[in-house]
Amino acid sequence: REVLVELQNLDEFFKIGKNKILKAVEKVSFKIYRGETFGLVGESGCGKTTCGRTIINLYKATGGKVIFEGEDVSKIDKKDIKSFKKKAQMIFQDPYSSLDPKMTIGEIIAEGIRVHFSELSEGEIQERVSELLKTVGLNAEHGARFPHELSGGQRQRIGIARALGVEPSFIVCDEPISALDVSIQAQVVNLLIELQKSKALTYLFISHDLSMVKHISDRIGVMYLGSMVEISPKDKLYDRPLHPYTRALISAIPIPNPAVSSKDRVKLEGEIPSPIHAPEGCKFSTRCRYCGDKCKTCRPELKEVDKDHFVACHLYDEGIEAAIRSMESID
Ligand code: SF4
Repeated sequence: REVLVELQNLDEFFKIGKNKILKAVEKVSFKIYRGETFGLVGESGCGKTTCGRTIINLYKATGGKVIFEGEDVSKIDKKDIKSFKKKAQMIFQDPYSSLDPKMTIGEIIAEGIRVHFSELSEGEIQERVSELLKTVGLNAEHGARFPHELSGGQRQRIGIARALGVEPSFIVCDEPISALDVSIQAQVVNLLIELQKSKALTYLFISHDLSMVKHISDRIGVMYLGSMVEISPKDKLYDRPLHPYTRALISAIPIPNPAVSSKDRVKLEGEIPSPIHAPEGCKFSTRCRYCGDKCKTCRPELKEVDKDHFVACHLYDEGIEAAIRSMESID
């Protein structure tokens, strides 16, 4: 498998006021393989959007690196930024605020094509705009309209067409369906799946909706308070979640998972702490029913405990079976 994107110990810290530091992302490492969809989940504020924005160079890493096609993203020269932007695009959560209300849909889509394909004539650009509108399930007439004249689902389709216009290989889909009606969400996700197949795209799909992430992703990373706590192929994650936080998130999915018996269910109690004052040891320790002494002082590292299945939790220091026994003794 070819690695397209790799985060290596990525830190993304923001200064708040005079002497407070918000650690939005701390020592996060993961790989995204070409052609796959990597789902990134977790409660709001866990750092998933910050990871996405750093990958496409909207933020500079405070520490660590993002490698894209073998190149350190933070070291890309000004002259090469344009060709990087052509390869890596983003679809935003709120399509309305990301589309200029004064521009027609046709102009919005044409803008990126004009920048990246300067060899095309105006007629060819308009032809591409019409094709793109068709590709996302709209028609050429929509090109003459303004964003406010379209529905939320149609606007998100425009966001997708705009990203596709520059022919990227990688797209960060940042909560692309959370602002949409439930009835429209599946349509947009299915469109993304079709486009991935027809255009050989790679996605980072960011969402707090675990059912939707399950539908679209090949592998999934779970973040909590700026740290990665579990990475796994989709099926393994839903069939046998390992981290206590993931177990709680999956337990909360409305459709019960028969593979997780009621005695395995973990309630998520308490509030998520502020990322400015994260617990010293395991960040989940203040909400974890299995928290032991070591958890309060020592931060667990992400380790592979089963093939392609990584977890950051001291319960797994002695392997999966020992962890399950120790959880069962507490449940
Ligand atoms: Fe819970 Fe400890 Fe595991 Fe953290 S390291 S999730 S506190 S058992």
